[in-house]
Amino acid sequence: MTFQDLNLNTPLLNALEDLQFQTPTPIQEQAFSAIMSGKDVVGIAQTGTGKTFAYMLPILRMLKYSEQKNPRVLVLVPTRELVVQVVEEIEKLTAYMNTRVVGIYGGTNINTQHQEVMQGLDIIVATPGRLYDLILRRAIQMKSIQKLVIDEVDVMLDLGFRFQINNILELLPVNRQNIMFSATMTEAVEELIDINFKQPQKISVAISGTPLDNIEQRGYKIQNFHTKANFLRELLKDKETYSKVLIFVGYKRMADRLFELLNEEFVDECTVIHSNKTQNYRLRSIRQFGDGFCRVLVATDVMARGLDIENVSHVINFDTPEYPENYMHRIGRTGRAEKQGISLLLTTEKEEENLEKIEYLMNMTVPQYDLPENVEISTVLIPEEQPKVFEINNPGKQNDEDAPGPAFHEKSLKNQKVNLGGSYRREIAKKYKKPKTRGDKNYNRRNKKK
Ligand code: AMP
Repeated sequence: MTFQDLNLNTPLLNALEDLQFQTPTPIQEQAFSAIMSGKDVVGIAQTGTGKTFAYMLPILRMLKYSEQKNPRVLVLVPTRELVVQVVEEIEKLTAYMNTRVVGIYGGTNINTQHQEVMQGLDIIVATPGRLYDLILRRAIQMKSIQKLVIDEVDVMLDLGFRFQINNILELLPVNRQNIMFSATMTEAVEELIDINFKQPQKISVAISGTPLDNIEQRGYKIQNFHTKANFLRELLKDKETYSKVLIFVGYKRMADRLFELLNEEFVDECTVIHSNKTQNYRLRSIRQFGDGFCRVLVATDVMARGLDIENVSHVINFDTPEYPENYMHRIGRTGRAEKQGISLLLTTEKEEENLEKIEYLMNMTVPQYDLPENVEISTVLIPEEQPKVFEINNPGKQNDEDAPGPAFHEKSLKNQKVNLGGSYRREIAKKYKKPKTRGDKNYNRRNKKK
């Protein structure tokens, strides 16, 4: 298929010709008809698959020339870099069209952006926080938005933008087309879709760039977290074979827990990355792993997917992800550029259903291996693995939600101090029994004499 086969118009075809793009990528092919149909669309695809054009081509195809001031297309993205990138891509595509595109992001002068949007525009590409600020200033109105695109929604939610997204969604006209792109599916993403999308059509490219034949997949059935960790410890002892190991876990707490365990044994060889870590910490982790300074990186799905790290010797799926697409993205981190990669998939009994979904998506089974005999089987369960105790007829008992969570602990003595303010005056008062005042410098001396 070529771009000529899609129902595009001359300005778009000319722009594509200038870019020397002839064939649509798989996600572009699938997204085109889905978005043109006017239905809500959820696309699962990561950066590098051509997803920006996947949503922009049909949107631009449908966008008619207009002189109206208010934007008709809103593209929300999580970071300023992505705003710049998406605006650039749109500008390339609209080289032969009269389309006004503006990029909006925080950390720069809001007045300049205010002026810019006041000029009138067709497409606005924005980070949620700054856009909302401009709406509150009445610099921009959302009443004409016909198409909403939320790009990299998994990152957006992981960075805590849910509140801002909801605020903006509330201001949009009800009759609009929603389009969403995410590299990974998470519960939070699914919830957002459930609440805001009308029977969306789901399109996905399972894996980009890396053919599955390039990756040797091995499966292990392992009963719990600690046994899985014991297995990893054994594997990682072989430093030559396990030279650059990317370990995936489903969520942040698990990432920290596993990192701490591994770091005890392989001091200074491990690092960790997830969205609760500071930007500096994350950058350092990536650099250390990329440069080979640390040979083990523990990462959550969302944070690891933007990484372009070469020569990963092994991807270890510490858990079996619920969404099979996430598995495809994970294993795609190894076996890049014609190199053979190895992926290990650790599955507990509870996760076996997820394994089935993965195998169904790939249309192949993951060969299963026995756990080496020297791996110690642990019976210790982490809190998430412990069976929930249901007590009947005990209405007085606190339910789980009320109970203090794992983060609850008594404050240390130092932190129990209450700030009473004016500490200097209190110190002096304690020492001299009565506040020393300017007006009566000799008060204490006089009292002592008596
Ligand atoms: P994206 O996934 O949107 O970040 O796009 C990745 C890169 O692929 C961008 O630099 C695009 O300009 C480029 N690209 C998008 N579509 C095509 C295509 N059909 N053929 C070749 N390159 C493309």
